[in-house]
Amino acid sequence: MKAEVIAVGSELLTPKFIDTNSLFIAERLNEVGIELQGKAVAADDRSTLRAIISDALRRSDLLILTGGLGPTDDDLTRDVVAELVQRPMEFHADIFDAIQKRFAARGLKAPEINRRQAMVPQDAVVLPNPNGTAPGLWIEDQGKYIVLLPGPPREMKPMFERVIQDRLVSAAGGARLFRRVLRITGQSESYVEEKVQPLYANWLAAPTKITTTILASLGQIELHLTALAQNDQEGRCALDGAVEHVVSTLGRDLFSVDGKTMQEVVGGLLRLRGLRISAAESCTGGLVLARLTEVPGSSDYVDRGVVVYSNQSKVDLLGVPPGLIAEHGAVSEPVAQAMAAGMARVAGTDVAVAVTGVAGPAGGTPEKPVGMVAIATARVRNARTESRVRTFNFIGGREMVRFQASQAALDMVRRWLLEDGA
Ligand code: ATP
Ligand code: MG
Repeated sequence: MKAEVIAVGSELLTPKFIDTNSLFIAERLNEVGIELQGKAVAADDRSTLRAIISDALRRSDLLILTGGLGPTDDDLTRDVVAELVQRPMEFHADIFDAIQKRFAARGLKAPEINRRQAMVPQDAVVLPNPNGTAPGLWIEDQGKYIVLLPGPPREMKPMFERVIQDRLVSAAGGARLFRRVLRITGQSESYVEEKVQPLYANWLAAPTKITTTILASLGQIELHLTALAQNDQEGRCALDGAVEHVVSTLGRDLFSVDGKTMQEVVGGLLRLRGLRISAAESCTGGLVLARLTEVPGSSDYVDRGVVVYSNQSKVDLLGVPPGLIAEHGAVSEPVAQAMAAGMARVAGTDVAVAVTGVAGPAGGTPEKPVGMVAIATARVRNARTESRVRTFNFIGGREMVRFQASQAALDMVRRWLLEDGA
């Protein structure tokens, strides 16, 4: 089914307002297997509206309009659609009654202009609006569906949910889209694409077709798998199979197969192993700890963190030897390791992570450019402290460097914990 959305409202063409209705509508349509082939924003102007709607009607089987159902002269959607499908308007007394009751409930009398909202094109289905005065409309015309929804999101959303359930699920043939979001870190987008590409052909040829999208965002790559299936069982089965393939192809670079964030995954592992963590942060300024504690229930495994921005604070709070900083500089692997070991000792935790780097934009040197970050992890087992350290060179501005550093720090913890076995 070819579908389009038209958001009606001149205010949506100003720099002040954005059309968010179509995002919600697209999401819900996708879930029942309908993808948009276009969308538009139209001014409250009769000839513009007529041109845009009639164009869309030529191309598409399903047209969803939001806005312009109000009582005022610039609310034209209802009129223009009725004209295009050549249906006379009929006054529905029951709709006007309901409008009068809404006004009466607030001690007001319904203005005459609200009668417009009780006008219904012949044979249209009236969609009740429990949150406002303007009812929606469902019109079938020459095998096409036209849906008119109010503009205010709180009125539009519940009405559209009903339209999906009551009308579009069956019109779409009963199939729905099922999605799985996989997250990968520590590798480039092209690496992931190259590894996963050979799987695509099989997925497209399978009885339940699976399509993929790769999205690179800060510090991670997302692989979105989408299956069009007749029911939950079929959708789940197809996606489980595809996820298995990706797991065996990407191994531990794949950190999440069920939409979980890095901090949720790390938290889950710490809880499973019964371990507690602390963090010593310089250039990330507490971001690692903020991300870890964003997860509800994280007090089970997070102990504490310190932000040690100055050299002196690294000495005072973590016992980093001043000589080490003098010799290697604050951004160095030996200092990162001393920070992690010091943090684990001070906090008495099983795991500690430490980050020290140059977040920029200033402060870079040829040997230590902006984006260079040393990250260490320490683990205390049987009173022995082991540590691991890596130096990363992140690209981007300050925000990006800080986020990527926090991601890499959490990822180092994750990979080490995974070595302990399931
Ligand atoms: P009303 O009966 O409230 O007049 P209406 O159907 O005429 O309903 P509009 O007047 O077009 O709706 O829009 C009312 C308000 O709803 C707008 O001021 C805007 O805040 C919001 N709105 C309208 N369209 C959209 C949209 N596409 N995305 C997000 N918000 C919207
Ligand atoms: Mg309007």
